[in-house]
Amino acid sequence: SANEMLLIFESNPVNEGLARVTAASFCTQLNPTLEEIADLKTAVSEAVTNCIIHGYEGRRGRIEMHLSYRERELYVDITDYGVGISDVEKAMEPMYTSKPDKDRSGMGFTFMEAFMDELSVESEPDKGTVVHMKKIIGR
Ligand code: ATP
Ligand code: MG
Repeated sequence: SANEMLLIFESNPVNEGLARVTAASFCTQLNPTLEEIADLKTAVSEAVTNCIIHGYEGRRGRIEMHLSYRERELYVDITDYGVGISDVEKAMEPMYTSKPDKDRSGMGFTFMEAFMDELSVESEPDKGTVVHMKKIIGR
């Protein structure tokens, strides 16, 4: 079976929980394990936090979370229209952060990669960033 949805919300930190719960709720049709749900929530939370903190740097902006599945393949795409990333490869390195002063450990992308089966990032400076993630549920 297949299904999809789009959640659009403001880059307000209170909406991070909304995104996590929405993703978890959407995938319940696939009978995920508790571990799979926890992994998905962590990945969504890291991606959304990045949109808020880095993409919009605390300013207001629009975040879109597109969720879909086909059979057991769950796809999560999270988009912002913020500052973008000039060097995606470097940004994705473990422990790389552009905000070391702000208590960041630079592990967000590393967690997304660890907790999901696939991760890819598309970004353009001053245009924004799209994080694509895929996870097979119920392996
Ligand atoms: P942590 O996630 O551990 O708190 P972090 O957010 O700095 O620290 P990552 O999530 O791995 O670490 O992101 C690495 C870097 O990529 C960020 O420091 C930032 O420079 C850049 N980045 C990530 N997401 C975005 C985004 N949506 N828009 C602009 N820059 C981003
Ligand atoms: Mg991060």
